[in-house]
Amino acid sequence: MRAKGLNPLLLEARGRTGGRTWTDTFAGQPVEMGGQFVDESQPLITAELRRCGIPTATGLVPAKAIMPTPDGPAPFSIAELQTRQGALLEKLFEGSKTYFPEPNNPMLKRSLVSELDGLSLRDRLNQLKLSAADESWINGITAGQSGGSSSYGAFTALAQWWSLAGWNTDAWYRAQSKRVSTGMSSVISAILADTKADTRLNTPVTAITDKGDSVEVVTASGQKFTARTVVVAVPVNVWKTIKFNPGLPSVHATATRQGVGVANSRKLWLHVTGMTEAKVVNGAEGDPFMTVLSHSRTSTGQLLMALNTKPAIDVTKRAAIEAALRTVLPEARLVDFRAQDWGADSYSMGGWALRRPGQMSAQLPAIQQPHGRMAFATSDIANGWVGFVEVALEAGFRAASQAAAIAGVKSAA
Ligand SMILES: Cc1cc2nc3c(=O)[nH]c(=O)nc-3n(C[C@H](O)[C@H](O)[C@H](O)COP(=O)(O)OP(=O)(O)OC[C@H]3O[C@@H](n4cnc5c(N)ncnc54)[C@H](O)[C@@H]3O)c2cc1C
Repeated sequence: MRAKGLNPLLLEARGRTGGRTWTDTFAGQPVEMGGQFVDESQPLITAELRRCGIPTATGLVPAKAIMPTPDGPAPFSIAELQTRQGALLEKLFEGSKTYFPEPNNPMLKRSLVSELDGLSLRDRLNQLKLSAADESWINGITAGQSGGSSSYGAFTALAQWWSLAGWNTDAWYRAQSKRVSTGMSSVISAILADTKADTRLNTPVTAITDKGDSVEVVTASGQKFTARTVVVAVPVNVWKTIKFNPGLPSVHATATRQGVGVANSRKLWLHVTGMTEAKVVNGAEGDPFMTVLSHSRTSTGQLLMALNTKPAIDVTKRAAIEAALRTVLPEARLVDFRAQDWGADSYSMGGWALRRPGQMSAQLPAIQQPHGRMAFATSDIANGWVGFVEVALEAGFRAASQAAAIAGVKSAA
């Protein structure tokens, strides 16, 4: 915004900036409670990291994979995991190069994509007619990334991730291996410092009114701000909690009613003892954990990162977590845990974005357009890596240009 010649005022609901990225401390180590992995296939975040001089880092390299079998979770080599799961993923996404030849421009082949966009990931799995054992090696991914059930997420949404990564298994695994060495929050702070924005924390916005030649923003405490233009940078799922006047266009109203950020998204950090090897666990659809991954060592054990998308588990309860952990890593003894439930968080109302069936073709590009004097900036409405920090930048750059045009400011960049 600053580079576009605007003088930004940032109204942030929480007591911190960063939203669904948040580097916290747990067991004496920095941990990501939200967005974690970055990859060179993501040019915007890669450029920001380079500009800020922040390197990436990797976690522990797993020595074994715990995978679902008809007799329960069992150990496999990492090579077996990647060969067998990789072949199944290639089958799942077969043809994606044809309908996503330029994956950052997902509607390039509009008619092909529109034909497929109504399919849920469950529909696509059913088409493949896999054995139950084979399906269990990938339906934890399709269900987990969809927020609990393969029937929630669009096949096109995950096929686009596969395409963006480079249409192959190695690239798919690599895209989930690197993190920001100093933490995601350090990148957000560096970007924010550059904008020199006047930042007001603990200032939730409740209403935005377009008055024709200006916009009025009202906060929960009744404060009023007037500006030439407003960038609405809250998640799509949160739009429905703000009173827009005039009301949102129908594509925006439908998106916020349906939701784009997945409903069930709980990230956990587990401090455990009793584990000597680094491991990665892949759950099947309906299992307590989508994934559990050895992250780092502590003086007494390991830190594990886990994702849970099964609503039946209460991640605030130690006993529930211990019981779930016992099913996949029986040797692990829980010392302490930290959990963040993004679906229950009033200012995200969901986790990472994964479009639902039909949303991509119904929304793009209309949802990226300004509404009077309001522009919209969230990764949930982007073209590229929807569900990743990368496209919070894509959407932010686009909204800054739109806001400058609305305000009639001659761009300085
Ligand atoms: C568990 C989890 C794991 C993830 N893993 C990865 C990953 O490995 N790699 C990756 O790149 N991405 C990952 N993501 C996704 C990534 O974190 C998001 O795509 C990205 O952070 C979204 O950015 P955003 O700016 O669109 O929204 P947000 O980060 O949600 O920012 C929206 C901001 O609006 C504020 N806000 C909300 N309501 C109001 C209001 N009424 N008034 C004022 N302010 C308000 C919020 O507090 C927040 O600061 C993950 C997300 C989650 C939840």
